[in-house]
Amino acid sequence: MTKIRVAVNGAAGNMGREVLRGVNEDRDLELVAAVDLKGDGSDAGIQAGIGAIGISLERDLIPALTRTRPDVVIDFTSPHTIMDSIEKIMSAKARPVLGTTGITEADLDTIISWSKKYGVPAVIAPNFAIGAVLMMLFVAQAARYLPEAEIIELHHENKIDSPSGTAIKTAEMILKSRGTVNRQPMAELEKVKGARGGRIEDIHIHSVRLPGLVARHEVIFGSIGQTLTIRHDSSTRASFIPGIILAVREVMKLEGVVYGLENLLNLT
Ligand code: NAD
Repeated sequence: MTKIRVAVNGAAGNMGREVLRGVNEDRDLELVAAVDLKGDGSDAGIQAGIGAIGISLERDLIPALTRTRPDVVIDFTSPHTIMDSIEKIMSAKARPVLGTTGITEADLDTIISWSKKYGVPAVIAPNFAIGAVLMMLFVAQAARYLPEAEIIELHHENKIDSPSGTAIKTAEMILKSRGTVNRQPMAELEKVKGARGGRIEDIHIHSVRLPGLVARHEVIFGSIGQTLTIRHDSSTRASFIPGIILAVREVMKLEGVVYGLENLLNLT
């Protein structure tokens, strides 16, 4: 069987190094390039803690894509530059598997238009941990009966965007599936600005950034005399790898853009 040729963008980062390890271990995948703004020509495997693999960490995406012609580029870089990277990847006819967060609805429309223009599919997932995807589905079910909820998301101290893409998507799923909220809105007195968190419509989202954390999402539903808490923890970044590898295999068979790992899982 022909192996899927994979490049990793953001290969020197926390996720990128984990992805390098995952791709390197998978028999159906062949790592062909490792790119990062911090690229210094050193062996990417040494950086990832798996020993030399003969692929150097390079700085510029376009020459790497032109030279190695990957089938798929896995991108875990930065919300600030992601759209620029995606256009480079798609115009090089490689399929993006995108984990970088901060993609807005307008960005998604642009990615869909690039997918049509360049004729390449893409997978975008704010959370590649299969447990987190299940959490969102359970939350959507619960919201049908318990429409009032708040979301708390907790991440490591270096996460720059808030709230997390998963928290945003979870709020959107609650809004889409929930029943009627009967509680009357009342005037609140917020003594410390932001104490009630951010809001998507009336759903409050609270973001915590602390060392020692990887990623946690917690949704608390409240109703008369009861609460229900649904929570998912990623305790190591390895939790994202099976979902990413699944997306790499699936993007080879897709047409168009798939947003959300749940759309690649046979859940019904
Ligand atoms: P990180 O800061 O550890 O790593 C990012 C790496 O990307 C750095 O090495 C940086 O030099 C590099 N980089 C930045 N801009 C670049 C560019 N334009 N071109 C090439 N390289 C570039 O961050 P991280 O913890 O690895 O997270 C990266 C992204 O992935 C964030 O947006 C984070 O929220 C997201 N993330 C998503 C999931 C998911 O399941 N979808 C899981 C974890 C993290």
